[in-house]
Amino acid sequence: MQPNLLAETHEVFNQVPPLDDVNLYRIDLPLQEWTRRFGGDWAEARIDAYGALAGGELMAAGFLANENKPVFKSHDRFGHRIDLVEFHPAYHQLMSAAIEHGIPSMPWTAPRPGAQVARAAMSYLHSQAEAGSGCPLTMTYASVPALKLQPDIAALWLPKILSREYDPRNLPIEQKNGATIGMAMTEKQGGTDVRANTTRAYPVGAPGPGQAYELVGHKWFCSAPMCDAFLTLAYTDRGLTCFLLPRHRPDGTRNQFYIQRLKNKLGNWSNASSEVEYRGALAWMIGEEGRGVPTIIEMVALTRFDCMVGSSALMRQALTQAAHHCAYRQVGGRVLSEQPLMQNVLADLALESEAALALTMRLGQALDNAHEQQEDKFARLVTAVGKYWICKRAPAMINEAAECMGGAGYVEDSILPRLYREAPVNSTWEGSGNVQCLDVLRALSKEPGVLDALFNELGDGHGDARLKAHIQRLQADFRDSAEIQYRARQLTEDVALALQAKLLLEAGNATVSDAFIASRLGEGGRVYGTLPRGVDVTALVARSMPQLG
Ligand SMILES: Cc1cc2nc3c(=O)[nH]c(=O)nc-3n(C[C@H](O)[C@H](O)[C@H](O)COP(=O)(O)OP(=O)(O)OC[C@H]3O[C@@H](n4cnc5c(N)ncnc54)[C@H](O)[C@@H]3O)c2cc1C
Repeated sequence: MQPNLLAETHEVFNQVPPLDDVNLYRIDLPLQEWTRRFGGDWAEARIDAYGALAGGELMAAGFLANENKPVFKSHDRFGHRIDLVEFHPAYHQLMSAAIEHGIPSMPWTAPRPGAQVARAAMSYLHSQAEAGSGCPLTMTYASVPALKLQPDIAALWLPKILSREYDPRNLPIEQKNGATIGMAMTEKQGGTDVRANTTRAYPVGAPGPGQAYELVGHKWFCSAPMCDAFLTLAYTDRGLTCFLLPRHRPDGTRNQFYIQRLKNKLGNWSNASSEVEYRGALAWMIGEEGRGVPTIIEMVALTRFDCMVGSSALMRQALTQAAHHCAYRQVGGRVLSEQPLMQNVLADLALESEAALALTMRLGQALDNAHEQQEDKFARLVTAVGKYWICKRAPAMINEAAECMGGAGYVEDSILPRLYREAPVNSTWEGSGNVQCLDVLRALSKEPGVLDALFNELGDGHGDARLKAHIQRLQADFRDSAEIQYRARQLTEDVALALQAKLLLEAGNATVSDAFIASRLGEGGRVYGTLPRGVDVTALVARSMPQLG
């Protein structure tokens, strides 16, 4: 007998075929429909090309970049301080692909209707392959409107930020072919409450916008510290002010920007997040002195949008894996995707995923149309609503998707553990859940026209009595100002559900909108898989299934 045959103890069967090397755009029917619906159709060839990359080589790179976390090198072997973070080549591959395909730059270099939607679609594909690199990509993209408030500084930096070349070299900006930008606001004593910042800025010469200052203080969280510069906040005598702080001084020497250590994080492993100190770090004032928060909010609004894109993407990838698994895995002689209770779970997950995508893409459209006042007001509100709701839904949804895969969903190779670890950060950073809900109240009560923009969008229920009744309840809830902060989560949730229901109804797929409204605005349990009777779960599962052609 051959010795190797002795080792063959069993035949492997009832395992699921791998879902490797697929085009993440082509297999995703809802993504195609929502991209087209909100004006991204002209970019389909580019999105499609990125879908192939994301489902192929970038997916593989994503595993490597997370298995090999970035390493902080404070000093070189001779004892010189160097403050470097070393990343695995797979991380650089991810950054390079995204930048070459214009993910941080597209809407700024070639603005046209649908540009934000098309970029969001590409970012959605990228985040499915690997979400950690999304942090510097997002911050780079989001820095542009804030930097434009200071045209003299923008003139030097924007050509590098908008370049299609990823240049990770640690060099002064003048010598680089491309640049990435970070954001450092949070200090030990306050992240939400940035007004509690203690970092101080001292003018080097003449004070004022565009002028040089030296910053002394710290930041408790500074992600992607290998970025070329950071938008940051510090106090001058006139109040909290925004600055651009580069890693190098114009004379080519290192700036006084010191990385203390890297955070040991729950997830988001491919991305480095650090604690830093400014020991007289040179920086340039961006925007009006004393108006640091409104200036940096220009950036934060877009990073919040990308939290919606990112969480929607994590949910979609989890759904893709779960649906694929259940289409092949048999239990009791029948594939799981045909068993009624699993159909209820998968269909419910599919609804969550599609509703998240719909709201995200609608915000993309509003950003594309932000020159229209109504759309600008709508974007103001929906950024907070969507950041809260979609990011809040993601961890539980991904957990459920992993459970559909049984033990396999708890094992790293399946990607589900990484998706699950990644999800909570989107609800924490860029303003945590409560902060978003309070921002919803602020927008509705303090900014004229926002409430009207919301109810204009919602209309009268688009012919659906359940949505109409929900909207009427919502109007009554907003008229009642008693204990409004205490009720802010409930109100925000109700706005999110109304908007999602309306978008799905308008899109015209009655199977999807009926199921969503019946479960989210009507009866339905508190966990996934509790859709009421009468929902066409077979159609919903088929729609969510990777379309492998
Ligand atoms: C992985 C990671 C990376 C990060 N990277 C960066 C970065 O690059 N740059 C940066 O500046 N920051 C970064 N942050 C920091 C992040 O933005 C902050 O942690 C976040 O804003 C919350 O601030 P905090 O931690 O100080 O919590 P706190 O401000 O202490 O808030 C704690 C909780 O209280 C809630 N809360 C606040 N105010 C109220 C209120 N009035 N009523 C009810 N509840 C309230 C908040 O929602 C939150 O849940 C990062 C965080 C993480 C986890």
